[in-house]
Amino acid sequence: MKNTQSFTTTLNHTPLTYEFCLHGIVQGVGFRPFVYRIATQNQINGFVCNDTQGVFILAQGNQEKIENFIKDLQNPPSAAKITNLTYNLIQSDIVYQDFTIQKSKQNSPLNATIPADIALCQDCLEELLNPNNRRFGYAFISCTNCGARYSLISDLPYDRQKTAMKKFKMCKECQSEYDNPNSRRFHSEINCCQVCGPKLFYTRRLKDWINLNTLSNNLLDSELCNILESQNTYLASNPLKEAANDLKNGKILAIKGIGGYTLVCNALNPSSISTLRKRKHRPRKPFAILCKDLSMAQKYAHLNKNEKEILSSPIAPILLAKAKISNNNLHLPLDLIAPNLNTLGIILPYTALHYLLIHLLDFPLIFTSANLSGEPIIKNFSAIVENLGEVCDGVLFFNRDIINAIDDSLVRESCFKNQKEFGGDMQVLRRARGFLCDIPSSPITPHSQLQNFIGLGAQQKATFCLHFRDKILLSPHLGDLDNPASLKNFINTKQLFCTQYQTKPDAIALDLHPHYTQRNLIDTNIQTHFVQHHFAHLLSNIAENSIDCEVLGVIFDGTGYGEDGNIWGGEFLKWNPARPLEFSRFAHFDYFALLGGEKAIKDIRRLGLEVLFKTFGEDYIKLDLPFLASLKKEFGDNILETFYKLHRANNKTFCDSMGRLFDAVSALCGVCMKTDYEGEGGMILESLASNDKIPKAYPFEIQNNVILWQLLIKAICQDLQDAIPLSQIALNFHYTLAQIIALIAKDSNCIALSGGCFQNSLLTHLTIEALTDKQVYLPLQIPCNDGGISFGQIRYLQYKF
Ligand SMILES: [Zn+2]
Ligand SMILES: [Zn+2]
Repeated sequence: MKNTQSFTTTLNHTPLTYEFCLHGIVQGVGFRPFVYRIATQNQINGFVCNDTQGVFILAQGNQEKIENFIKDLQNPPSAAKITNLTYNLIQSDIVYQDFTIQKSKQNSPLNATIPADIALCQDCLEELLNPNNRRFGYAFISCTNCGARYSLISDLPYDRQKTAMKKFKMCKECQSEYDNPNSRRFHSEINCCQVCGPKLFYTRRLKDWINLNTLSNNLLDSELCNILESQNTYLASNPLKEAANDLKNGKILAIKGIGGYTLVCNALNPSSISTLRKRKHRPRKPFAILCKDLSMAQKYAHLNKNEKEILSSPIAPILLAKAKISNNNLHLPLDLIAPNLNTLGIILPYTALHYLLIHLLDFPLIFTSANLSGEPIIKNFSAIVENLGEVCDGVLFFNRDIINAIDDSLVRESCFKNQKEFGGDMQVLRRARGFLCDIPSSPITPHSQLQNFIGLGAQQKATFCLHFRDKILLSPHLGDLDNPASLKNFINTKQLFCTQYQTKPDAIALDLHPHYTQRNLIDTNIQTHFVQHHFAHLLSNIAENSIDCEVLGVIFDGTGYGEDGNIWGGEFLKWNPARPLEFSRFAHFDYFALLGGEKAIKDIRRLGLEVLFKTFGEDYIKLDLPFLASLKKEFGDNILETFYKLHRANNKTFCDSMGRLFDAVSALCGVCMKTDYEGEGGMILESLASNDKIPKAYPFEIQNNVILWQLLIKAICQDLQDAIPLSQIALNFHYTLAQIIALIAKDSNCIALSGGCFQNSLLTHLTIEALTDKQVYLPLQIPCNDGGISFGQIRYLQYKF
């Protein structure tokens, strides 16, 4: 509609024209409708559109109106985040007569962003709980500021016909919201209500389904629900209420979320948790808990302001927080939820379904991805029945399909304050649901912008990273590629990204490891470049933090294939921007053998023995350690000799991995003998280390830039024999590593930390303390673990081209 009033004004006073460029999280989060609203409120004419970098606005109006418009721009929708806002006064011959949302630029799939799934917003939550609202109690309420995105899309750009919502036709009321620029649901592609949208189902009779041959593993939930509705014998009449009752009665349920199914049970009920552990064959891997709200979360964990913000953010990740252990009145069985750890994973409800369910309960829920160990999170009811039919007693689900499985993200508070503007004070450990795949980046060379390439990442915590024109897209966490299900998921997701951007990579980056599964995925016609694992870790940090000076990389990691064929992971690598494709191995930890090869990775007693053998030689026999006594007791007196022979034999695999050294020390201390999950030994030592004691450095030697840890092991054994508290020994061990880093880094000004061991916040804190006079960087947005390898590989190719 033309507004004659403003038209006349415009003629009388030539309006000012401004161009605005906004970067950050501004696409797929209701940003353009927001700009439309504030523009019309301030009588600004012009248009808004998405471009490759973010959002572009052309605004015309008088000075006062423009100023008010700029003020209003500072309060974007909750899921949006402006990291950079620039504007310029320009000359324009065109006089705009209204304000519009331009779709043209966004319609090019090449420019579109893959939108992220967003936690339920405050406005939708209020409507959900308001009996007068037409969506009261509706489990699939959403708006342009919240709801599923990534998990629903089959193609770009993001619109309903290319999502799992295409099976639901909007009712009249929903359509009118969709068409109304003043509605929060204007152009909301997933808009629906209880009349026209998805429905909830609940069933307990999983055993019936196990034998039902109509159920193929690939059956979509939408198709299954069609069958179910015709035979309602299998279904509960009030899904939510019956699911809640079962939870109150100690049952284990699978509930469908945004990116997959989650296993839940009463977190205050020890027998439910034990049953879940038994059925899932997961003796100790920590579970997260879903709390009703922040005040419930604070009962169980110490949360500062920053941590509360992270929990309530639109990303809604699992936050690793400090558990409240001393409070005995909590009835939270921490020894079952996170055995031997002092951290607790906490998550708040992020879908309307979670809110509705937990509002019927007065306890937190165990909250863990429904999958088989190492496999991707399950997205279909049929796969739940097939794989976890014996694990859960009931399934709460719905008839909207999950197209792309995606895990919950995992973060912890960052040890750095305000290192970077983007992303706030969190360190991302698993980058998945809620995070955009677009990684802000600046081109290295004008030429590299013209190339498309892909980094295929690491075998564990696999991700791939796509460089496409001036975009860098990092896939979500895709799990470990040791099993066919994960591999299939990896290939499918890669396909989705490449199809979406109509791109065929000109070059591929691979890890040096000859047995990584990715080796089988490459097309031999495409040029392939190999990047050493820890160099990729370093480059990932260099890229995230835009480091352009000479740097010492301290890469402490689990396992990575070294240039000499050994397993590396205790590395000090030097890098210089003048020769960006090279690194020098400035120093490293002394090698030790994996007794029995791969077996030693889980059975870490073998690592404990090896470091003793290497430190004491035959004299190990004289040691009076509980660790050795327990081995003899379990396997007989000859066991030590058998392993000593193995130590003396040839054909061993050697490593200098920091992750394995942590494991060895935790075995020596007797706190972890066989690991149930990767990094368990290190996590227990971190939890054990007392922070109210004064740390003492153990001795160590450095010869020819090889760090000899034998004196350190000797000192630990002495302390163990002297019955020094384990909390002191664990602290000293961490502290000594920080002192080693400081000594090796004494002539370097710029230090880049990376590798999985820097998920250990005590190690990171002590290291930063030991390097106070240096510039220290840590990856925060990109995981410092193997999830960041593909991003580092892309940096390598950027330098290459
Ligand atoms: Zn909303
Ligand atoms: Zn509707």
